Amino acid sequence: MLKNKRAVVTGSTSGIGLAMARELAANGADVVINGFGDPSVIEQERAGLEQEFAVRAHYVSADLSQAQATRDFIRQSADALGGIDILVNNAGIQHTDRIEDFPVERWDAVIALNLSAVFHGTAAALPYMQQNGWGRIINIASAHGQVASANKSAYVAAKHGVVGLTKVTALENAGSGITCNAICPGWVRTPLVEKQIQALAKKEGVDIEEAARMLLSEKQPSLQFVTPQQLGAAAVYLCSDGADQMSGANLTLDGGWTAR
Ligand code: NAD
Repeated sequence: MLKNKRAVVTGSTSGIGLAMARELAANGADVVINGFGDPSVIEQERAGLEQEFAVRAHYVSADLSQAQATRDFIRQSADALGGIDILVNNAGIQHTDRIEDFPVERWDAVIALNLSAVFHGTAAALPYMQQNGWGRIINIASAHGQVASANKSAYVAAKHGVVGLTKVTALENAGSGITCNAICPGWVRTPLVEKQIQALAKKEGVDIEEAARMLLSEKQPSLQFVTPQQLGAAAVYLCSDGADQMSGANLTLDGGWTAR
């Protein structure tokens, strides 16, 4: 379905981004992956995408918390792929603290990566999509783009910002063949959440699996984690012809978190 489409997925050396890159490649898209990690593991992932799915896969390294680096990353990705049709703004980090204790540099870091990188990446990628009259921008927001939790001021502010930016991007490009939507996951068991499970286990003096159950039962009525593969399938849907008229929307996959 996505043969000859060129996709860039930020923060795709791990978790949700990696699953997005794999699902897009499984459907025929050439991909750029990005993110931090052990170079030999990243090379294995990149080569694995090419071998498994018979697509072209590139790794482009960049610290997307820097504005210029993000814009340069998009240009380098477009050079590697020969253009950009799909951009998944996925890279993100978390920090938890009460507002009065929240370190300024952690606030700045979360806003820079989780919100500003979406702006810079989108701004740099749009001209490539406009050239072709077709494009898909998929912003990985969160249930925290719709509702709040205590101790997550920067993350919740950034994700609400991403939901707003998604709508502006959709409006500015309406009718051009370019859509922009947000995916809002609930709990997904990735390294980002594993850290929070470990912190809860330590705080409550319980084992990891009990802490995982506690985390789910506080927010996610299904009591099951969303899988990265389910999110990848949602991204593939957003790239399909069936989603041509879906723009500015939130696709919520959260086991019922925001239903109550
Ligand atoms: P993760 O920690 O597994 O992966 C994050 C990715 O971002 C990694 O590839 C990492 O190397 C990369 N990254 C980190 N800092 C970077 C930087 N400065 N520049 C470039 N890349 C950088 O996390 P995840 O859970 O897969 O999260 C992915 C996205 O999904 C995030 O935006 C997160 O907010 C969102 N999300 C996650 C959950 C969840 O429950 N895991 C829920 C809702 C939304």
